[in-house]
Amino acid sequence: MQVTTSSEHPERLLPLVLDWYARHRRDLPWRVPGTSAWAVLVSEVMLQQTPVVRVEPAWREWMQRWPDPAALAAATPAEVLRAWDRLGYPRRALRLRDAAIAIRDRHGGTVPRTTAELRALPGVGSYTAAAIRSFAYGERDVVLDTNVRRVLARALDGAALPAPSLTRAEERRAEAVVPADPATSARWNIGLMELGALVCTARAPRCGSCPLAHTCAWRRAGAPGDVHAARRRTQPWQGTDRQARGRLMAALRDAVEPLAVTELPDWGDETQRDRALAGLVADGLVEVTPQARYRLPEG
Ligand code: SF4
Repeated sequence: MQVTTSSEHPERLLPLVLDWYARHRRDLPWRVPGTSAWAVLVSEVMLQQTPVVRVEPAWREWMQRWPDPAALAAATPAEVLRAWDRLGYPRRALRLRDAAIAIRDRHGGTVPRTTAELRALPGVGSYTAAAIRSFAYGERDVVLDTNVRRVLARALDGAALPAPSLTRAEERRAEAVVPADPATSARWNIGLMELGALVCTARAPRCGSCPLAHTCAWRRAGAPGDVHAARRRTQPWQGTDRQARGRLMAALRDAVEPLAVTELPDWGDETQRDRALAGLVADGLVEVTPQARYRLPEG
């Protein structure tokens, strides 16, 4: 990691980021002041692997149906998986339900606010815990998602992209640049995330629209490294087991009664279908009835 020079010092970046965020932020429902920690948790889990545009309507429906952890904890896995619908990676839905049960049983129905308690919840990693603490509870914390990592790597380190996996050095540097005041730190965190999502994107950074353009170490160094040849590979979809799992889950979500294997979608590759089905059963996303039929888990 390169040493941060004085002109790139985060104190100089802070007002630029805050001012840009105030003017360009997206109006997302989970960012409305007073949004509950539960609502923030649901949004963060949904956003882990799904774009904002698909999350927003699903999040609204979800919060209307299950406005607090106790409500979701009382739902069956099948109800939760049907509501998750096509957000993808449906194990997240079951983990969210498990987290709701843990919040109900261990925390009296209130989302906890310490890092240790949050990290102990199913499906809650360091990023999600920090996001809840910062955005819902106004605590000073280091929110370090891929967008923030990329902005800091470019603006402060002069690197095209951060390391493939989060490093301790990155964590320490991110910690060092978070403002001391909790309220300001929350705006710094969300401002950097938004800047990374909208302007300092992985493949095509829009430096001409960036508030950090005059101070960014990567840009001042002539933007070395090819972001287009970056390691970010588009995950294939057609023909994959993920697609196969998605087809099976869609059929089971729509089914009124348990389905026999012969009633499941057939795309001409029985081996793949059986493998995908076995994986879904092993992951707890599908259960087999005593009659050897398949359905979403009921209990
Ligand atoms: S100037 Fe360009 S590379 Fe630097 S932070 Fe802004 S968008 Fe990213």
